[in-house]
Amino acid sequence: MKNIEIEQKLSQINLQNYSLEELNTNLQLIKEKYVEKDQQEEAKQIWVYQRILEIHKLYVKAFSLLKNKQYYKGWCVLEQIEITINSLKRHFQYNEKEYYLWNIEKSVLNLQVIFPYKLFNSIEILHKSEKCSICGKIVKIRNLCEHIVGEIYNGEMCYREVVDAEILNVSLVENPGNKFSVFFLVDENTGEQIDQYNYDDIDYLFSIINNPYEQWDLEVSQQVVTKNDYGNIDRNDLCPCGSNKKFKNCCGLNIGKKYPHYEFIVNNPNYRAILSNTIKKK
Ligand SMILES: [Zn+2]
Ligand SMILES: [Zn+2]
Repeated sequence: MKNIEIEQKLSQINLQNYSLEELNTNLQLIKEKYVEKDQQEEAKQIWVYQRILEIHKLYVKAFSLLKNKQYYKGWCVLEQIEITINSLKRHFQYNEKEYYLWNIEKSVLNLQVIFPYKLFNSIEILHKSEKCSICGKIVKIRNLCEHIVGEIYNGEMCYREVVDAEILNVSLVENPGNKFSVFFLVDENTGEQIDQYNYDDIDYLFSIINNPYEQWDLEVSQQVVTKNDYGNIDRNDLCPCGSNKKFKNCCGLNIGKKYPHYEFIVNNPNYRAILSNTIKKK
């Protein structure tokens, strides 16, 4: 398979008319031949193609997880996509039309915006020693190897595997280094994790889009809750949310608060939809 053929296949990836797995196996074999002959640039180019495939594989997986309400698992795959895109961008600058990557990048960002996760556990770790993924040497501050993290050697990206580490500190933050450690509550009696989040916005979006390659976009604006949002209601009436509290002591407290307002823009005009977030609904 020549590079031009590979690029042709990858440019039709959104049609989903071939197996990504099979193409990846072919690419791996081609890459191994280049590595045997020490053709570093050629092997690196195949690594780039493989990352493009990987991003699409993850994107299709995230779509099906979220469509099936596996929110946290889907969230983690979105984070994997973000990380893979960042490692690809170091070696391949794509434009708006190439391999649908720009669309994936935008969709991942938009999904991260509408996800209800806003607080994360941030774990500060002291790496005492690490192993180079290319040469296997144990790397310490005064004992480095010649490989640079993020560079491509023999068609593989160099990373450091942590061999010995010490946890220094765990804290809750809004902008973590990675977004895997979502903050969940724990049931005091059973010790089981509770998912305390409201996923209405995600459910709403995935009730409209049916294919990972269906295009959609998001517009976010700030709105203020007004009394009119609750219709003709007296302050002393029972709250319409069903809490059995008086309106003034429940949702009435939200009046005047700002909340993000999401508008999804989709291809099907019947579904051009306005959606408000959870502050207003609770
Ligand atoms: Zn090394
Ligand atoms: Zn209420």
